[in-house]
Amino acid sequence: MKRIEIAKLVEMEEFGRQVVVMGWVRTIRISKNVAFIALNDGSCLRNAQIVADLERFEPTLFSRIHSGASLAVTGKLVESLGTQQKNEIQAEKIEILGEANPDYYPMQPKKHSLEFLRENAHLRFRTNLFGAISRVRHNMIFAIHKYFNDRGFYNVHSPIITASDCEGAGEMFHVTTLDLNKVPKTPEGKIDWSQDFFGRETNLTVSGQLEAELAALALSKVYTFGPTFRAENSNTSRHLAEFWMIEPEVAFADIHDNMDLAEDMLKYLVQYALDHCAEDIEFLEQRLINEENAKPANERSPMLLREKLRFVLENKFERISYTEAIEILKNSPEQKKNKFSYPIKEWGADLQSEHERYLVEKHFKKPVILTDYPKEIKAFYMKQNPDGKTVAAMDVLFPQIGEIIGGSQREENYDKLLSRIQELGMSTETLWWYLDTRRFGTVVHSGFGLGFERLMLFITGMGNIRDVIPFPRTPKNAEF
Ligand code: ATP
Ligand code: MN
Repeated sequence: MKRIEIAKLVEMEEFGRQVVVMGWVRTIRISKNVAFIALNDGSCLRNAQIVADLERFEPTLFSRIHSGASLAVTGKLVESLGTQQKNEIQAEKIEILGEANPDYYPMQPKKHSLEFLRENAHLRFRTNLFGAISRVRHNMIFAIHKYFNDRGFYNVHSPIITASDCEGAGEMFHVTTLDLNKVPKTPEGKIDWSQDFFGRETNLTVSGQLEAELAALALSKVYTFGPTFRAENSNTSRHLAEFWMIEPEVAFADIHDNMDLAEDMLKYLVQYALDHCAEDIEFLEQRLINEENAKPANERSPMLLREKLRFVLENKFERISYTEAIEILKNSPEQKKNKFSYPIKEWGADLQSEHERYLVEKHFKKPVILTDYPKEIKAFYMKQNPDGKTVAAMDVLFPQIGEIIGGSQREENYDKLLSRIQELGMSTETLWWYLDTRRFGTVVHSGFGLGFERLMLFITGMGNIRDVIPFPRTPKNAEF
């Protein structure tokens, strides 16, 4: 007989039918005459309820079944008397596929700390929490592809190994096959990359944007969705060394079109999560409520998870310039009472997440899109504004997270782009192909990068980015 997935089973009402389920034991409770087993196979949050009359089975069987063991259970589907579920399985045959010795199995049926679960990331999938996060993550990946596909965008694979540093930030991981114990040197004593695998210095990509631009300037509407790597040594709850980024790039679109796309896409994804992940989101919301209740009253978040998601859906994002934001921040009670860790000194300062969150959570009380940043704090490719001081950048700021999207209209003018590259002392030789697109058939175009795990933080209400990706890569941590 074929196994029935538990997501299907829990809805079934064909009482009397024979079924087979397979999964991992969440809990087992043995009373005088019967054993109750909750079995989960990850297909949904809910468990199959298995009831076994002890007298039907070999007496030693149940002493070998513990939380974490894998079972195949055959039995009769019967109506459940409990209110928790529609049905249960009256077990006729129980096969232990793999035991889990409780003396060694780390995942006990109790609440574990998130730190403990990170140290046991190989097994944390088996908790309700990481099951829920994994399913939401999958749904969001699918929704992103659906969103773009339904709107005529083409997905483009940008390279993972590149020779260009898109952001100029110098936070890159080298890719090399050189023998690090005998690194070849040039006569000047520098590393001789010409002897390396690619005959040049290469690194893991920090963004697929430059290549996405090349594709957009032919296919009009494209997006990438790939891994990106940043060797930033910042141990924050919002940064990973390896994360996934969604980067749409659109020809014939200016910064206003870009903002419309970002807002529409984020709202679509939030709505998709509410529609397709209701059970898991309800569970995640309950987790948050429990966590909030453990905090002192004045530190509790005023909004529940679904309320926060609806808050994004129901509000038009506030669009203001960086310059206006600096004025608001300078005049804020936080600044006056010296509550910012980084007080705003003057126009030109880079904004920290505390500033971004102040604008969203306290000042506007809605998501905010900040535009027209000083060119000094943004990348070389952004469209230069007529004022000579700012560029057509746009960052989308969210509650709890701060920046979730960074994007811009791109500089499509060859001369302006070239002079900015030179001004910054960057190499025009390695970027010849990028410049070429401005020499041949250049058009106005725009795009942005959405950090997938930042989106996941928002949708799940989790507080640490290490908990929304299966195997986080952070400074000094690449286990699993
Ligand atoms: P931040 O200032 O928060 O470090 P950034 O300005 O470096 O972000 P961009 O280069 O604009 O970010 O990247 C686009 C998006 O990628 C960001 O808006 C964010 O959602 C995400 N992102 C950037 N760095 C990381 C990281 N280290 N880990 C996870 N997501 C990231
Ligand atoms: Mn960064």
